[in-house]
Amino acid sequence: MIQFFNTLSGKVEPFKPLTPGEIKLYTCGPTVYDYAHIGNFRAYIFEDLLKRFLVFMGYKVIHVMNITDVDDKTIKGANSEGVKLQEYTKKYTDAFFEDIKILNIAKADHYPQATEHIPDMVKMIQGLIQKGYAYKKDGSVYFSIAKFPDYGKLSKMDLKELRPGQRIESDEYEKESARDFALWKNKKEGEPFWETKIGSGRPGWHIECSVMSSKYLGETFDIHCGGVDNIFPHHENEIAQSEAYSGKTFVKTWLHCRHLIVDGEKMSKSKGNFYTLRDLLKRNLDTSALRFLLLSTHYRKMFNFTFDALEQASASLQRIKDFLYELENRSFEEGENKRISKLINDMNKKFKRGLSDDLNISVALTAIFEMIRKVNTLIFQGKVYRTDAENLVSSIRSLDQVLAVLPKEKEMDLPSEMMNRIEKREKARQENNYKLADEIRKELLQQGIVLEDTKDGVRWKIKK
Ligand code: AMP
Ligand code: ZN
Repeated sequence: MIQFFNTLSGKVEPFKPLTPGEIKLYTCGPTVYDYAHIGNFRAYIFEDLLKRFLVFMGYKVIHVMNITDVDDKTIKGANSEGVKLQEYTKKYTDAFFEDIKILNIAKADHYPQATEHIPDMVKMIQGLIQKGYAYKKDGSVYFSIAKFPDYGKLSKMDLKELRPGQRIESDEYEKESARDFALWKNKKEGEPFWETKIGSGRPGWHIECSVMSSKYLGETFDIHCGGVDNIFPHHENEIAQSEAYSGKTFVKTWLHCRHLIVDGEKMSKSKGNFYTLRDLLKRNLDTSALRFLLLSTHYRKMFNFTFDALEQASASLQRIKDFLYELENRSFEEGENKRISKLINDMNKKFKRGLSDDLNISVALTAIFEMIRKVNTLIFQGKVYRTDAENLVSSIRSLDQVLAVLPKEKEMDLPSEMMNRIEKREKARQENNYKLADEIRKELLQQGIVLEDTKDGVRWKIKK
């Protein structure tokens, strides 16, 4: 049984998809006004872990992630650079796709962009006006929170804090300023606008997600995710808009990850502890170690990023890589040890049990490391055989469909000590020191590594 902590009920509850075997998932995507920072990637990697796990458990997952390419922040950014909104957001949208590829985040089935769904938004806003949930004021359209008695059910706000009838224009605000929020904002000097049946203007941020999720997933779907900052006002407003419009439950299960902080402090540009993936790449980041680090803390715990933790993550990951390398490249005697299949079985069960319990990643990772420790002892004692090695490799590779942190078979690096020797030999060859180059080649051959000099440089292979 899979269970998740549902923000809406405030409880861990069994998860059952609306359609057997199929899960519809919506995750709030980037607002493309800047490069994504590692806090955003904490959210995207938590969602990726969730999705990969559900697929691993045999579900078909239909995943939609929106791209917010019109809102207060994107407009402000484009204006301050003096470029068109589209030109400005394209740069950061492209960067986002490059970044998620680097971090091995599986692609969604749809990435709808807000600016391509304006007519759909206008239709929903018209419907909300007709049903009496929204009203026009000075060319803008507002959602009347007093008309929706369930307002506040996700963020558990004290209804006394509500200020119905008072209006708020900006896309983001605190709980204390809960008011009638803007669905449509009247045309303003210096802002892009669309001519529509509800007037000239542009959409508010929240309506984008209500419209795009229902368009691709239907009016009721299984899971909606984001970071905790999305709970209020964004997701609260999404529920109000969608449920008022359709009269149906919007989402069954809401999952939110807590924030990433840096060295115990909030990440902020002014403190100089604000990192985009690009900042870290300039520091020779090991990207799979960052992915491993970001997914290794349970999503409902605050995540404290430090460079020490990144190094530790790299070392832990290296233990898995070394284990795999050993199994893939050492020659084992023919045969099979039944104890190994039991260890594999135990690991698989514990891994699934851990992640089924509200994505308890610590249990899942411990299952892998415990198995490695036990098998390493058996390798040392000469009690691991060829069939065991093959089974171990395929079981680790199968669990990596969820973690996605290991290099593909062909990309496996040799241990760094061997890579250094290959580099040393290259250098010797360039300096015409063929004697040293030959010596290194022979040494490596004795250890089972065959070097081939090609016109594109040296290549290595494992001797069969
Ligand atoms: P944004 O581009 O600001 O709309 O954010 C994209 C996603 O990143 C949302 O799901 C946010 O909740 C999430 N997010 C933003 N900051 C952080 C953070 N420091 N830690 C974790 N998630 C975050
Ligand atoms: Zn959203």
